[in-house]
Parts: sequence; structure tokens; C-alpha cells
Amino acid sequence: MIAKESCLLCQIAANKIPSYKVYEDELTLAVLDVNGANPGHCFVIPKNHYPIIEQVPDEELGNHFIVANKISSAIFETLRVQGTNIFVRNGVPAGQQVAHFMINVIPRKENDNVNLQWKPRQLSEEEMSTVELKLKEQVKGRGIQKTQKAKSAKSQETPKPKPVTDDEDDYFMRQLRRIP
Ligand SMILES: [Zn+2]
Repeated sequence: MIAKESCLLCQIAANKIPSYKVYEDELTLAVLDVNGANPGHCFVIPKNHYPIIEQVPDEELGNHFIVANKISSAIFETLRVQGTNIFVRNGVPAGQQVAHFMINVIPRKENDNVNLQWKPRQLSEEEMSTVELKLKEQVKGRGIQKTQKAKSAKSQETPKPKPVTDDEDDYFMRQLRRIP
């Protein structure tokens, strides 16, 4: 694993390497990718060195994704694109090349020849429920509900907060519904 001192993205964050910064705050930096998939392709990175997403503290992670969302909105408003891809390459088999967590925001137009497709696999019901059970069990101890509750308490400061359910099954169902 690459040490912080020799990390390319840490050097960009520290202004040791010139870059096209489009946004910066205390925790997060958004930079134009010079080898991007399309004009306007940005990467959003923590200023601190975290090789993979699991190492990014929860308190920071939200900020990075909020920035990614705002960059995406800015891309829509200025570059007249029809879509964006917002994604993380987490780990070498997932295509991660630099050991510093990064969120890609790629402007998309129809027929732009950027290929992020995969061939859908037909999984059996047994395979699906085995994986479901394993994940469900593992996720239970990960403090997701704690995070939601903290957010829920905070959101009560704003008028008419949406009720946040504690039911884990509901949580998973909501995730599933987002899949097109
Ligand atoms: Zn780094």
C-alpha cells in the first residue's frame, strides 16, 4: 500500500502538484480528472489520506458524498449533459488504481461510448436468500441504525421531519426499491 507521503492525491490536496480544483472545503476536494471519461469528469477526495472507503470516518463520509452530489448538479447545469455516473472503485479488483479513496462524478450523454455496463446474472432463489441472510446478519452489527437515529434527532430541528423507521426490514426494502 502506498504511504501518504508518496500518494499522488495527497500531493494534489497539499498543492504540491498543480490541478484543476473546482471545489474545496475543510474536508473535501473536487478536482477535474485530466484523463477523464468525458469533459467535466471530476473526482471527489478527502483531504486526509484514507486508502479505501471503510477507513473514511462516518462523520466525514457524508460530506464527501454531499460534495459529489453538488458537483453532479453543477455538471447538469453547466455542461448540458443527460446524466451523471457517481461511483467509487473500492479495491483493486474493482479497478481502484490509487490508494486514496475517491468518488468519481462522470458527465454522461447518450452514445458517449463510456462503458460501465455489466451483463446481468441470473441467480437462483437459493443463492439470493443465502447472500441476503449473510449480509443482513453482518450489517446488523455495523451501527447503521445508530447513524440513522443520530440523523433523525438532528432533523427534528427542521420543520416537519420525515419519520425515520427503526425497522431493519423496511430499511432493506427501501434500498431494493431504488434499483431500476
Ligand atoms: Zn493520499
